[in-house]
Amino acid sequence: MKKSLLYGPVTSRRLGLSLGIDAVAYKACTLDCIYCQIGRTKKTTVERRDFGRADTIFTELAGRLEDGLRADHITIGGSGEPTLNTEIGKIISGIRRMTDIPVAVLTNGTLLWDPAVQDALMDADVVLPSLDAADEETFQRINRPHPDISFQRTVDGLVSFSGRFGGSIWLEVFLVDSVNTSDRHLEKLKSIADRIGCDKIHLNTAVRPPAEGFVSPLGQEALEEATRRIGNKAEVIAEFRDEKGNTRQSEKKLLESDLIGMLRRRPCTAADIAAGLGVEESAAQVLAGRLAADGRVEIRESGSETYYVCPVQSL
Ligand code: SF4
Repeated sequence: MKKSLLYGPVTSRRLGLSLGIDAVAYKACTLDCIYCQIGRTKKTTVERRDFGRADTIFTELAGRLEDGLRADHITIGGSGEPTLNTEIGKIISGIRRMTDIPVAVLTNGTLLWDPAVQDALMDADVVLPSLDAADEETFQRINRPHPDISFQRTVDGLVSFSGRFGGSIWLEVFLVDSVNTSDRHLEKLKSIADRIGCDKIHLNTAVRPPAEGFVSPLGQEALEEATRRIGNKAEVIAEFRDEKGNTRQSEKKLLESDLIGMLRRRPCTAADIAAGLGVEESAAQVLAGRLAADGRVEIRESGSETYYVCPVQSL
């Protein structure tokens, strides 16, 4: 069965109900972050290329819009670095022509120094770059970049892109306990974020199972303290909760293919699955449990939460 390049809508802590678009092949990425939720990058790359996905994305999206798609954002991201796709500008402008739903781009920011990448993102409504390090040493330690990528060029790219881009920039900083969380490092991060001039700064930590077992999440209190240090644009990303239940359809049948599609992108709790796919949590638990018993999904504990994970070999 050919896999869909669209997934969700899933609930996103930052983007509300978000229809995801997988713009590149699995783990085509410039980085190999120690906290990556979808596993290690076997071979980092900086080679931009046409992944031949634009037409399929447009066809699939047209079908979803015809079916009455409801989403707060259409988010280009997926299981790698989307700016590696040379068609990303065409994909963004094509989506804009098809719908008024705002277009967001998740990026690790490492290619934003390239004017061609900057040009390609100009039609997006919001760009969400990551920046976890405030110096080269920490960058190497936490993001394990391709050898052609340097910390300074990444920061310069972010500053230069921000100067040109007319939409919103929401920076994500992923904090790993004892790696990038010292007071001095947070102060340096604040000063870089000020230079970039982003609209929001989202602080995240490893609440889902990370690529490397040695990665420890920052506790809630330490995260709040980091927020205070980074300033008034910073906020802890809280888990999205659909309290009103208005995106749920309890009668909707949960399909294995939808669930596998969601778990391929990130580990999820039963509550995540329920909120993302619009089903009752009990239904999510039953199906995920059945897939786990069949060996198609793994169960991992992280903190007090139980996550369902789709192993890479099932992709
Ligand atoms: S977290 Fe994002 S940027 Fe980092 S390795 Fe995973 S896909 Fe690449």
